[in-house]
Amino acid sequence: MYQRSKQVETLSLYIDGQWRPASSESYFDSTDPYTGEVWTRVPSASADDVDAAVQAAHRAFVSGPWVEMTPTQRGRLLHKLGDIVAENAEKLGELEVRDNGKLLAEMLGQMRYLPEWFYYYGGLADKIEGALTPAERPGVMHYIRYEPVGVVAAISPWNSPLVLTVWKLAPALAAGNTVVVKPSEYSSASMLYLAKLFEEAGFPAGVLNVITGVGKDTGEALINHPLVERIAFTGGEAGGRAVYQAAAKSFKRVSLELGGKSPNIVFEDADLDDAVKGAVAGIFAAAGQTCMAGSRLLVHESIHDVFVEKLIAFVRDAKLGDPMDSNTNIGPIATPPQFKKVLEYIEIAKGEGAKCVLGGERATGPGLERGLFVKPTIFTRVNNKMRIAQEEVFGPILSIITFKTDDEAVAIANDTAYGLAAGVWTQNLERAVNLPARLRAGTVWVNAYRVVSYLAPFGGFKNSGIGRENGKEAIREYLEAKSVFLNTKRGVPSPFVMRLPAVE
Ligand code: NAD
Repeated sequence: MYQRSKQVETLSLYIDGQWRPASSESYFDSTDPYTGEVWTRVPSASADDVDAAVQAAHRAFVSGPWVEMTPTQRGRLLHKLGDIVAENAEKLGELEVRDNGKLLAEMLGQMRYLPEWFYYYGGLADKIEGALTPAERPGVMHYIRYEPVGVVAAISPWNSPLVLTVWKLAPALAAGNTVVVKPSEYSSASMLYLAKLFEEAGFPAGVLNVITGVGKDTGEALINHPLVERIAFTGGEAGGRAVYQAAAKSFKRVSLELGGKSPNIVFEDADLDDAVKGAVAGIFAAAGQTCMAGSRLLVHESIHDVFVEKLIAFVRDAKLGDPMDSNTNIGPIATPPQFKKVLEYIEIAKGEGAKCVLGGERATGPGLERGLFVKPTIFTRVNNKMRIAQEEVFGPILSIITFKTDDEAVAIANDTAYGLAAGVWTQNLERAVNLPARLRAGTVWVNAYRVVSYLAPFGGFKNSGIGRENGKEAIREYLEAKSVFLNTKRGVPSPFVMRLPAVE
């Protein structure tokens, strides 16, 4: 069993290949959500630190070893990093659990999978190919080059800190950009440890910089910095809006991965035991703290009672406790504000007339004294117009809504401001094929839930975001297309003689 060290570690910023204290000497505490104890002191990067990091990234982008590397060499470096990350997966997983309280089993799984992103995008680095277009007029050759955008600001949340940062880092670096990362103020440790692994792999100074601090100060200074040309953001709506507004002021390129209120639809012909596991994976496995949580369970009315019974039987005995313990099924809520929000939504749902059939309160008892625990909670008789069905809670709260027909299921599923993900549980081939096309969501799972891959584009429709991470599409998000016209003939014609077509 993992032994928590009692020592409080003071972290440093990573700027231009150097480890530095915050220039203002200002620090804040990060608390372990299970023990309630402070375990790291995190530097609060000032506007000067942000400037130093962005300037370093800009220098590394315009000249020096990173620019001189061939795409194949960049790819090899990413591969090497992948190998080093694989060797350090356990350490990275433990750091994440201390910060966000998610189960060690889950975070270890994520960290063991993480190298694949470096291998995949490392492999793509030298397959970014331009194009020679057919000659459109005599003596003029035209070709397209794909070039990196510039300095990328990568901003990530606490719930899967490294995975969601590496989804940005790997394609951005494969494309030849340089990056300044700002992790969540609740989960800075693993990203700073990853920076050490970048050093070990031999990345040139300035290619990766890590600054820590709160969104309002450090984050805003970063997104507003004039030398940042591309912002990759994962987080909530308010932060996403601030990023989009800042980006609009100077036309920065932007991708936003935001929240969700994803429907998980169980048809009457589904394998109910599988569907129960899919419902639990969707909402309780990570205590609901996942953007793709299947927080609205749409159940066909003919199987409602039996399904709810099976679901309760499956969840009732789930063990809440220390996320480091392999016997724990559900860990604590990561942060005090999030804990308060989850409990408030339970009251909102009750006030709206939803029926609480499981949980519905803070969990207490031996081993849970200091942690932020909420009982897995199920509401039936939810109407899709209720706030509990429309607003993202980010906690272990499931809303069950019934439907009669496929059309009604689709209408309810799509009746939300979000569009991140959806699940469909059916043994009917027609439904399995047709439903994914009708659901307004960036990812649809059929007889599965919460599966992601470096190969599969991930992102949201509607308020769930803009742009895609993962897969080949993600690398395009970090490239600019450039057209080059090359006149191959001597004797440029007179500019005063009008020729067709007129070229603007
Ligand atoms: P958050 O928006 O509070 O913070 C995310 C990051 O943005 C943090 O690093 C924070 O410091 C920074 N930030 C906040 N305000 C900012 C501002 N004004 N300017 C610049 N930076 C700012 O989100 P959170 O609470 O850390 O994470 C939970 C949210 O993230 C949920 O809404 C969840 O759905 C979403 N999320 C989305 C995905 C996805 O891929 N779509 C994945 C995970 C989480």
